[in-house]
Amino acid sequence: MGAVPKVRISKSRGRKRSSQWKIKARSLVTCDWCGAPKRPHHVCMSCGTYRGEQVIEIEEE
Ligand SMILES: [Zn+2]
Repeated sequence: MGAVPKVRISKSRGRKRSSQWKIKARSLVTCDWCGAPKRPHHVCMSCGTYRGEQVIEIEEE
């Protein structure tokens, strides 16, 4: 009974998985256009470009 895993995951395997998860969750890339940190494969929310193309309009005051 209870939430007991059938197969025990070794220390190294558990560490590997958790470390990869962290990298995926936190990774940011620098925007080629404006240099702001942005999520990879996403439109930059600072300048509105993705892969060098203007995708969304950013209103500047
Ligand atoms: Zn940008």
